[in-house]
Amino acid sequence: MKRVLITAGASGVGRAMGEAFDAAGWQVWVCDRDASALADVPEAWRRSLVDVTDEVAVSGLFSEVSEVWGGVDALCANAGIAGPTAAIEDVSLQDWQACLAVNLEGAFLAAKYAAPLMKAAKAGSIVVTSSTAGQYGYPFRAPYAAAKWAVIGLTKTLAMELGPYGVRANVICPGAVEGPRMEGVLAREAEAKGMSRDAVYEGYASGTAMGRFVEGKDVAGMAVFLASDTARLVSGQVIAVDGFTVNPDPKV
Ligand code: NAD
Repeated sequence: MKRVLITAGASGVGRAMGEAFDAAGWQVWVCDRDASALADVPEAWRRSLVDVTDEVAVSGLFSEVSEVWGGVDALCANAGIAGPTAAIEDVSLQDWQACLAVNLEGAFLAAKYAAPLMKAAKAGSIVVTSSTAGQYGYPFRAPYAAAKWAVIGLTKTLAMELGPYGVRANVICPGAVEGPRMEGVLAREAEAKGMSRDAVYEGYASGTAMGRFVEGKDVAGMAVFLASDTARLVSGQVIAVDGFTVNPDPKV
């Protein structure tokens, strides 16, 4: 059985990825910083309480993966936080750094410790979760957009550097995903703009050709494809799962 490690896999998009890999016959190992969410993942999955910004913890996680599994076929570097919603002059350096720490450094650390295992096996696939924010920008979410843009550069570099070892790396850029995290964003924006939650939702959704939010399973299906041998010559790519963004700044 193929083996996938998913960061931030206890809930949200990462959890949907775990379910999709599980359904496709993969062994699943998730890490997350939320112990109670981790306790809730399916019995058959391996789980580790790891914050992806902690290099010692990430290094230890991959040592354990190496001992228990003897390697890993795919890494989904999925952890990310939304960061502040604020005009650029109101973004504190602390908030900026905290957002980059999870979204960018978290992906860097996971790739750093997965790469030696994959290079040794002369095979592997790294799938990094960015965002349409990393393709277009995202007004009032500068740290998030900067981090999500940066992981695209990181992933393209991984694809070049690791390609000779048979290792691929690709980025998925989801649009707004249904779920608690986006509900939080909608609530904050609705309050800041004096609009209803539904009006803000509509503003986002109408910025896509498909006119709706993404679901976790949409992103997860793409991750399974990219990790699979069917995608054996797909590397260095940035693939949006967003219903086709036609207006990245819907001015909601
Ligand atoms: P989420 O807020 O629902 O969180 C999912 C999990 O991430 C949680 O279990 C949480 O504990 C874990 N997590 C957060 N920080 C962590 C850390 N430092 N170390 C380990 N685990 C951590 O997130 P989500 O909506 O599932 O997003 C997953 C990925 O998709 C992120 O990279 C996010 O930026 C990206 N994304 C999300 C959306 C969206 O609308 N939700 C849109 C585009 C991209």
